[in-house]
Amino acid sequence: MSERQALLAGGLVAYRLERARRRSIGFTIGPEGLRVRAPGWATLAVIETALRDKQHWIVRKLADVREREARQNAARIVWASGGVLPWLGQALTLRLGNTHRAPCIAGSVLEVGLPAEAPFETVRARVQAWMQREARLHFAARVAHYAPQLTVQPARLMLTSAATRWGSASASGVVRLNWRLLHYRPALIDYVVAHELAHLREMNHGPRFWAIVESVVPDHARLRRELRESTAPQWQ
Ligand SMILES: [Zn+2]
Repeated sequence: MSERQALLAGGLVAYRLERARRRSIGFTIGPEGLRVRAPGWATLAVIETALRDKQHWIVRKLADVREREARQNAARIVWASGGVLPWLGQALTLRLGNTHRAPCIAGSVLEVGLPAEAPFETVRARVQAWMQREARLHFAARVAHYAPQLTVQPARLMLTSAATRWGSASASGVVRLNWRLLHYRPALIDYVVAHELAHLREMNHGPRFWAIVESVVPDHARLRRELRESTAPQWQ
């Protein structure tokens, strides 16, 4: 393995070269940059020609990865006084060192109910437990709102914390909703609630399913796009 550089699309690009038992030269682009895996017969000249053949694709992919990393770093929640928690589409500022015993909202401040010197893991766990409690209440109220309109009744409502899914519904009537949705404005949460409840009538994403969603959330397409394009707050 060696660290090298190539001139691609007019700029210097660092890459990591690995020799591997394979027939062709392969490229992967991830958070650690460009990685090239090449068979033993491929000389550096051959490798650099292969890189130049794909230079525009490589440079564009690297920029995408860097941009995503920057967005995620910017979305990382700071678990200390002054940190910001996106909450129902608004910003709540965390405050430690108060006398409350349980988290509570005061204006745009979330009194966490921990001493100022609490370690960040403790702050995070406290806020998570609070958010999950609030999510249960919020979802129950929104399900109570939409279920009669859709003439469905979920057998059970459960919280999830899946990294990539906002909700799901099973044929047995179990509706799962992600508590992290409470970061987003209420209209987005409503869309996900209505979407999962609509699955209790149509277990697919066909035209009949979308007509059911549309009957209670007319602007579902726009909300869906907004949710997809948003950067989820990072809890690490
Ligand atoms: Zn669905």
